[in-house]
Amino acid sequence: MKKTLRYNFRLNPTPEQEARLIEFGATARGIWNLLLSETIRRYEYDKTFLFYKDMASLIKELKVFEEFSWIKAFDSAAAQQVARDLETALKNAFSKGRLQRFPKHKVSYKRKKLYNDSFRAVNNSNCIRIENGAISIPKVGKVPIILHRDLVSQIKTVTVQYRHGKWECSITQEAECKAAKKRLTSITGFDINSKQTVVGSNGFVADNPKFLKQSKEKLSHLQRQLARRKKGSNRWHKTKQRINKLHGKISRQRLNFAHQVSRQITNETDILVFEDLNVKAMQQFNGSMVADNVMGLITQLAKYKAELEGKLYHEIGRFEKSTGICSECDKNHVLSLSERYFTCTQCSTDQSRDLSAAKSIAKTGELDLIAAGIVARVNPTSQQKSAIKTKVFELSKLAEGSEKKEAA
Ligand SMILES: [Zn+2]
Repeated sequence: MKKTLRYNFRLNPTPEQEARLIEFGATARGIWNLLLSETIRRYEYDKTFLFYKDMASLIKELKVFEEFSWIKAFDSAAAQQVARDLETALKNAFSKGRLQRFPKHKVSYKRKKLYNDSFRAVNNSNCIRIENGAISIPKVGKVPIILHRDLVSQIKTVTVQYRHGKWECSITQEAECKAAKKRLTSITGFDINSKQTVVGSNGFVADNPKFLKQSKEKLSHLQRQLARRKKGSNRWHKTKQRINKLHGKISRQRLNFAHQVSRQITNETDILVFEDLNVKAMQQFNGSMVADNVMGLITQLAKYKAELEGKLYHEIGRFEKSTGICSECDKNHVLSLSERYFTCTQCSTDQSRDLSAAKSIAKTGELDLIAAGIVARVNPTSQQKSAIKTKVFELSKLAEGSEKKEAA
């Protein structure tokens, strides 16, 4: 099975290259708007859509005219990519169950006082490659790149964008997953509580980091400052710029933290069980989850990391009660939000609220996976027996079969 990976890297373009990148971003936006207007016009005329093929030939036809020389100056594969992206956006917008509305025209950065443009180059016959600390981008040249991690395979596409005051590129690659592990020797449930701390049934704990809280306090300070300043004034712009930079810092800090936590928990266990956060958010987070979704990011990253390593990721999706269940005797307790510890009224063991919730999630996950016929409990080998309470599972033939089918 193959998985598409996406990593962001910092670019350090020369002033000439920077001018090129800004121009290309604007060109991609221009092509998007042009094709979109043309599609809307066609739709109003005879209720049909332009599809990728029509759009690509339209681009070809227009290129010849002098007033469209800006399209000719652009990388043609990147221009076709705009058409592909627009086609996808149209298909999404008009699929069943969505708002039947056209995608939006893209607004110029000058109006938004930000460079929000981006363009995506496609790696045809190895035209995009990284050599001597620079990435070659068609019609731009060799742009210096900070390669903070090695690439795992050939580059598929590169999206270049100016974000939060810095040039970045997002590189997609295709990675081969390891074969599914047949013998899984550990299962861990993870509870994410309202304080946004991740607790594993194996004793793992990751706190919502302090630096994020500090950055957020700084952010709300700057936002209050912005509100006091006269809109459009020099000082207003200065504060706005600082806010933009800080947003960038927070998003990098958050991603970094999520990568670290998800890497650690994926290394430590073979079967990972999480609660469906959408369901959980409805139960207790009251919207705060949506605004600051580090925890959602952790589950997403843990999922793809587990898949890459041939491990199992499972979400328990139903309204399954996990909090306040005794991990020894399954007795149910009603706890208020402030109660972090409780003593079981039935077997009188002392329990930590989060740890017992994580254990109950692991238990539910285990029952789910066995009931679905994905894994079966087997006896541990003598070596594994020495570790206390080791649970060992075997991937069923059924699950292996479905995996093979997916790969084919
Ligand atoms: Zn109990």
